Amino acid sequence: MHILTTIPEINKFLQEKLLLNQSVGFVPTMGALHDGHISLIKQALSENQLVICSIFVNPTQFNNPEDLKLYPRTPESDFKKLEEAGCNAIFYPTIEEMYPEFEVLNHFNLGELETLMEGSFRPNHFRGVVTIVKKLFDIVKPTNAYFGLKDFQQVAVIKKMVADLKLPVTIVACPTLQEKDGLAMSSRNIRLDEKERCESVKIYEALNWIKQNKANYLPEELQKEALKKITTPLLNPEYLEIVNPVTLQPIKRWNEVDKPVVCVATWCGKVRLIDNMEL
Ligand code: AMP
Repeated sequence: MHILTTIPEINKFLQEKLLLNQSVGFVPTMGALHDGHISLIKQALSENQLVICSIFVNPTQFNNPEDLKLYPRTPESDFKKLEEAGCNAIFYPTIEEMYPEFEVLNHFNLGELETLMEGSFRPNHFRGVVTIVKKLFDIVKPTNAYFGLKDFQQVAVIKKMVADLKLPVTIVACPTLQEKDGLAMSSRNIRLDEKERCESVKIYEALNWIKQNKANYLPEELQKEALKKITTPLLNPEYLEIVNPVTLQPIKRWNEVDKPVVCVATWCGKVRLIDNMEL
């Protein structure tokens, strides 16, 4: 497995491979890898001749400096997991490599997608996401890029950018891997203490409860009840919305869309967790 840290290094690596016309699968991550990330690598390996994973904690997508500082960084164990999974190369750049100017001047307009749900609680988050993903796509030039549906809104935002800019890459949305009790796997989970970890299962339970009660109540009724279930001394929700999966606008009636999705973000102690479920 190659570990490449600069753009000239990855260019050289790719030049040979692209001459052979190999398809490139790309999995962008911020590291602290868990089985959810590895499932994306495995899917990419099954659909491409070459798989590249990037590890870069992207400062421009953090609206909270404390969150950026505390974001787990475990490069050695990440490299080991990627090697074991069969990943061909890692792109592990420095901040200076990705942001020589640091200040980002040209922002992509995401319309309402950047002001709803995650966008409204994390101002400028998606601007940072599309900025880094576009830079990474320009460098890696992937045939297919793999993103987890755990970050449901992120997938919608990336698809929008790719469609709008007509980028020559296929976005593949992959299912969320969960812990045994239903908590969505996340790099941030290792920051939960024992009590918070126990309490966090209520997030999955609330999503599941909505799914099971869909036939008997209106979306708004279930939204209100579910919010109560995840409002506890340790859980402090920011939003729980039942939305149209394309526009991400809240729905009023179930028959408005084929496959509504419930999306949630909540603090669990000092850790912010998100999850979602197709209903
Ligand atoms: P991150 O390192 O958190 O930026 O995540 C990198 C990629 O892995 C993103 O596309 C995430 O949506 C995806 N991902 C994160 N957690 C999971 C999970 N539990 N299951 C599947 N994919 C995930």
